[in-house]
Amino acid sequence: MVQKNLIDGEWIAGSEAFRSINPSNTNDVVGEYARASADDARAAIAAAKAAFPAWSRSGILERHAILRKTADEILARKDELGKLLSREEGKTLVEGIGETVRAGQIFDFFAGECLRLAGEVLPSARPNIGVEITREPVGVVGIITPWNFPIAIPAWKIAPALCYGNTVVFKPAELVPGSSWAIVDILHRAGLPKGVLNLVMGKGSVVGQAMLDSPDISAITFTGSVGTGKRVAAASVEHNRKYQLEMGGKNPFVVLDDADLSVAVEAAVNSAFFSTGQRCTASSRIIVTEGIHDRFVAAMGERMKGLTIDDALKAGTHIGPVVDESQLNQDTDYIAIGKQEGAKLAFGGELLKRDTPGFYLQPALFTEATNAMRISREEIFGPVAAVIRVRDYDEALAVANDTPFGLSSGIATTSLKHATHFKRNAEAGMVMVNLPTAGVDFHVPFGGRKGSSYGSREQGRYAAEFYTTVKTAYTLA
Ligand code: NAD
Repeated sequence: MVQKNLIDGEWIAGSEAFRSINPSNTNDVVGEYARASADDARAAIAAAKAAFPAWSRSGILERHAILRKTADEILARKDELGKLLSREEGKTLVEGIGETVRAGQIFDFFAGECLRLAGEVLPSARPNIGVEITREPVGVVGIITPWNFPIAIPAWKIAPALCYGNTVVFKPAELVPGSSWAIVDILHRAGLPKGVLNLVMGKGSVVGQAMLDSPDISAITFTGSVGTGKRVAAASVEHNRKYQLEMGGKNPFVVLDDADLSVAVEAAVNSAFFSTGQRCTASSRIIVTEGIHDRFVAAMGERMKGLTIDDALKAGTHIGPVVDESQLNQDTDYIAIGKQEGAKLAFGGELLKRDTPGFYLQPALFTEATNAMRISREEIFGPVAAVIRVRDYDEALAVANDTPFGLSSGIATTSLKHATHFKRNAEAGMVMVNLPTAGVDFHVPFGGRKGSSYGSREQGRYAAEFYTTVKTAYTLA
């Protein structure tokens, strides 16, 4: 059965469909999905525009109930939805279920936020005048998401958009439509009025572009690659609309001589290779001071031997396949580039055969890398990391910050002085001490700086900044 797009409260088949394939087993078709056209996208935008006046004035209890019901259903179906996610994206079942739970927690959090909407009342600078500062919804929000977090990223954009009274046109990544379809179905059945949330699955160059070109979208929130982010930015400037970009990373993980070796290795392996290295917060630059370097590299090799790379759904798998063939080619190309540049491939990097045809790659660790190499400067987005040897903490910090990106930054140290200095001086939106660079909470701000992000933070109460616009009202007493 073809899963359809949701436009103005109706499930619409469209004229074309596409298949989603399981990267652990390319014989397994996860589902068939309707491919929206540019006209479908325009119809969805018109529906969202028409639904905005009523939804923006809807009662907070109505919004709370819908978001709460959605959270409850996602959490109740976490095993089934987590399995769907692992089948379509290739992350392990544990990771798939974990991400699904996070999506449920996000809807639960924003259900609560509906009940905590507040403004400020201030005295005016002039006598007998009162000033009220309130937050109002922005209008129609366009949501464009990548493939690597198929349920969490849609959740952390859709939940606040609806909570603060906006209507939505949502375009998920073409590789992973299943989880997106499932949460839209849940929200629809939870009682959203028609047109408030519209789903348009399909090609970025068609559906996404129609969204960028529409003067009726008041704000676009985008997570994906730098190249597409730049297009979102240019089109948004053209239409004078609000926009928010979360893009690539080249996140450093620093290991100092005084680090607890097992803490450092555990955090580095998680940062670099878990979720197959396909996290924007993954670390692919492991910056190690010379006193611990050789012990650290040896311990990494031992730890990596214990990793099971296999079908995402199999019990005991630590790392699933790469998401598709084109990403696999990108990963192996960078492994070849690393070798040509003179880095030493110390471990892994081979294609693996498993019981089913899939995109299996042994995680790769380079040593003797420099920060000038392409493998240290460009986002690979796979299980490929490079160790860069440095003299001391000062050089480690300089190398960590020497990148066009600035999403997440980690350090392994037992020194309070270095941990404190690193937290203050790392040029990143998120800093992790003795923890992996990836793996964040759902109720606190998420985002980066420099080339990684643009606009205000996502998640937690900070999300209000993007999904609302501030009004200042003056009244003569
Ligand atoms: P992508 O840029 O190829 O696609 C992202 C989305 O944009 C997809 O839905 C795609 O269909 C759409 N799109 C493509 N062309 C478009 C166009 N012309 N107009 C409008 N929309 C268009 O990225 P991807 O390959 O899906 O995701 C991987 C990237 O996402 C990586 O660079 C990764 O670092 C980044 N990412 C960043 C974060 C973060 O929070 N910083 C989180 C996850 C992923």
